[in-house]
Amino acid sequence: MLPRAMLRLVEIFNSIQGEGTHSGLPCAFVRLAACNLRCGYCDTPYSFGKGEKRTVESVLQEVDAFGVRHVCITGGEPMLQLEEVTRLMESFVQRNYTVLLETNGTISLASIPEQVVKVMDVKTPDGLGMAPDDERFLRTHLDYSNLDLLTTRDEVKFVVTSRADYEWSREFVEQHGLRMRCGQILFSPSWSELEPSQLVEWILEDRLAVRVNLQLHKYVWGPETAGV
Ligand code: SF4
Repeated sequence: MLPRAMLRLVEIFNSIQGEGTHSGLPCAFVRLAACNLRCGYCDTPYSFGKGEKRTVESVLQEVDAFGVRHVCITGGEPMLQLEEVTRLMESFVQRNYTVLLETNGTISLASIPEQVVKVMDVKTPDGLGMAPDDERFLRTHLDYSNLDLLTTRDEVKFVVTSRADYEWSREFVEQHGLRMRCGQILFSPSWSELEPSQLVEWILEDRLAVRVNLQLHKYVWGPETAGV
């Protein structure tokens, strides 16, 4: 008999998807514990701890009870629990859920089932409080091999905190041919650091073919409300 896979879990809740191309759809969220980064704008620092141990089966049962067809695996950084989270995603796929994985892209995504929608957040220099040419930034902000694993099903997100982040993100999209690699490129203004109108102005000025991504849940429930 296979050993039971144990996940370290922060919370499970039912809400609407607040971001990306599935925005607005009813969706169950499974937030896993721990993160290997410390972004200045992080709105889920309560996920940094060890979390509660839960079996994959108990997570599946709790999500099934919501009766929704979308499930989003988020964190923290879910890929820190590679084996267990892969098993969880495979189980959701078998149950015909549309599965979204929100990840910071710093750990290889090679084991992810192909049906899963990868929403990969490429971390920007100002977001991590580092210079763009800082060797530590280049070494830690992304596993670049993940760019080769993207498909047209997937989304790449940049949380833009400043003009410098905007320019860096714009260059990254061009340098790595992102339009040919993934289905959607999302530029999201950091909630407390950049006005959405400013980001829109820059995008229109540059005629940039990216999607402005606002966090819908923060407009519905306010920026401080967790578990929604
Ligand atoms: S990767 Fe996500 S969870 Fe981790 S610190 Fe950054 S914003 Fe927070």
